[in-house]
Amino acid sequence: MSLWILNGKVWNESSASLEGKHIQVVDGKIAAIVDASETVNTEGAEVVDAQGKLVSPGFIDMHVHLRDPGFTHKEDIITGSRSAAKGGFTTIACMPNTRPVTDTAETVRYIIDKSEEAQLVKVLPYASITKNELGRELTDFASLKEAGAIGFTDDGVGVQNAQMMKDAMTLAKSLDMPVIAHCEDDSLVVGAWASEGEFSRKHGLKGIPNESEAIHVGRDVLLAEATGVHYHVCHVSTEQSVRLIRLAKQVGIKVTAEVCPHHLILSDENIPGLDDANWKMNPPLRTPRDVAAVLEGLEDGTIDIIVTDHAPHSAEEKAKGVDLAPFGIVGLETAFPLLYTHFVETGRWTLGFLLKRMTQDPARVFRLEEGSLEVGKPADITIVDIENEQAVDPSTFLSKSNNTPFGGWKLKGWPVATIVNGNIVWTE
Ligand SMILES: [Zn+2]
Repeated sequence: MSLWILNGKVWNESSASLEGKHIQVVDGKIAAIVDASETVNTEGAEVVDAQGKLVSPGFIDMHVHLRDPGFTHKEDIITGSRSAAKGGFTTIACMPNTRPVTDTAETVRYIIDKSEEAQLVKVLPYASITKNELGRELTDFASLKEAGAIGFTDDGVGVQNAQMMKDAMTLAKSLDMPVIAHCEDDSLVVGAWASEGEFSRKHGLKGIPNESEAIHVGRDVLLAEATGVHYHVCHVSTEQSVRLIRLAKQVGIKVTAEVCPHHLILSDENIPGLDDANWKMNPPLRTPRDVAAVLEGLEDGTIDIIVTDHAPHSAEEKAKGVDLAPFGIVGLETAFPLLYTHFVETGRWTLGFLLKRMTQDPARVFRLEEGSLEVGKPADITIVDIENEQAVDPSTFLSKSNNTPFGGWKLKGWPVATIVNGNIVWTE
């Protein structure tokens, strides 16, 4: 089976510019990339006209909640995959805080089987560090790896006990697997949802202090140093965390980190008030000073990748009010246009920088063969209309949920087609 993507604009890192290219896909792999000035023989092939569009390696999101099994009223593997494809993602990694928690080989295989049957995007499951994410007993790492888990995390909660985390890292290291950490010290965050700062003070709320995150980062980089494991920090949101990760990298500790679009674009100053739970996420929106620090961290390489932390919740759950509503926002379908509009259109980042943080860098950090447009690589390709400006309309999301604070925001750079292993899995 053969496919030609004609006249697309491909980012060239060495010239730091977009160049016209034709790309040929044969049997799911990239077979040729030639200059758009060349005439190619497309006889018998499927043809996609990408004239004027950006053609990028498929985006990779290493932090997504698919809610399946157990919470399929919010999302399931199929709807989450469709949502990912619409956002231009070709590979996503899903978090284990499902019901049951992904703490057995059986649940890992369920996720892999269901996503393979769907033939949409590639879904890579994480397994939990501790049974039921309760922080009491380690899961069977070897059998979870054998079943196809790509790393271990108790995302949604932090591992509170340092010895438990050290044991997890020691075991993961022996299996050459990464430990991915949700950093949150429970003793510092009881009963709060907003960050400690202007907003929490103004509204008389108990705030979540920055230290609740950074204490775990500090503890864990020391444990990573002691054990030699690849330690990856989830959704970095504070200045202190960035500082600790930067120091850890400087002394050679094997640490990597991720940040979400909302922590790069929004601060607690943007929260309109107390009546919209679409502004309630974990970690919470921090101060403008923290936003500046995570941006700088991403730009200087302290933070390696961008993830969405796509966290679907039903409208009923989010309507319960900020105190009772669950934490989290959806992110797959808005991530690229948000980042493109706020950082590339404004001239702060090159397009190449954004693409690298969403393709090549996640592939490097998690040792995936995807993430670049090269002959011989899997044909995971995203086509984006970078000229198209439209408002975010949550009612059009392919996710089962539409909990986003970005409804109505005018953004540029919307994906128009997503190709996985040479198959068009979504098109506008
Ligand atoms: Zn998460």
